[in-house]
Amino acid sequence: MPGYRRQLYRDDAVVLRVQKLGESDRIITLLSRRHGRLRAVARGVRRTTSRFGARLEPFGHVDLQIAGDPNGGDGLHTVSQVEAIELYGKRFLDDYPRYTAASAIAETAERLSPVEREPSLRLFQLTLGAIRALAAREHAGTLVLDAYLLRGMGVAGWAPALVECAVCGTKGPHKAFSVPAGGAVCPDCRPPGAAHPAPATLDLMVALSSGNWHVADAAEAGPRRECSGLVAAHLQWHLERGLRSLPLVDRTTGEEQK
Ligand SMILES: [Zn+2]
Repeated sequence: MPGYRRQLYRDDAVVLRVQKLGESDRIITLLSRRHGRLRAVARGVRRTTSRFGARLEPFGHVDLQIAGDPNGGDGLHTVSQVEAIELYGKRFLDDYPRYTAASAIAETAERLSPVEREPSLRLFQLTLGAIRALAAREHAGTLVLDAYLLRGMGVAGWAPALVECAVCGTKGPHKAFSVPAGGAVCPDCRPPGAAHPAPATLDLMVALSSGNWHVADAAEAGPRRECSGLVAAHLQWHLERGLRSLPLVDRTTGEEQK
């Protein structure tokens, strides 16, 4: 291809999505540490003799060598080598709630990195950390997901205000929450139709945003459910199209087994 510099580069990445391409190939969507979100073709991975098919499944943390122009270019990149660091996807195979939470994390990661090859170390670390935490089962899957969504929105620059009023900045805590207004709102700024979540719900959202797992793990089912609803509403408001995987996440109990 004229004007197209093809070279090998190496990076570690989380596999976000795998799509079929023709008879035996796949297109892999990756969130990489240093090169941002990438799409690359893996040739022959659907053959049983493939060298790296099983290593390129969703949610895996892998080390890759990719052929392509790391600075852009229109040519499709190809995976030339892949080593497994940790294949987290296997751990979700028999755990549908965690599988759907991982799917929502992967889909959100893709939506929060709209431009290919634009590095975001923070988003990469958050995404890998959330997948790893889901696999470790130390916290309820829904809490791990909501913590990820809150912090991911922070990376994107539209985390909900939780303590200060979203409109005027007056210090709270405030009792009302309005997604269109940007989060918690004081009595003066409260628009019609604002929600009035339980104080424990806003406490949980603050705990999840700041990584205070001691408080988050102790939250009861009601605040967990309310928190999930507000986080999902805030996320959907800011994304142009809703997430396909989020409605599939099982939030029926809010106290899913750890
Ligand atoms: Zn205000």
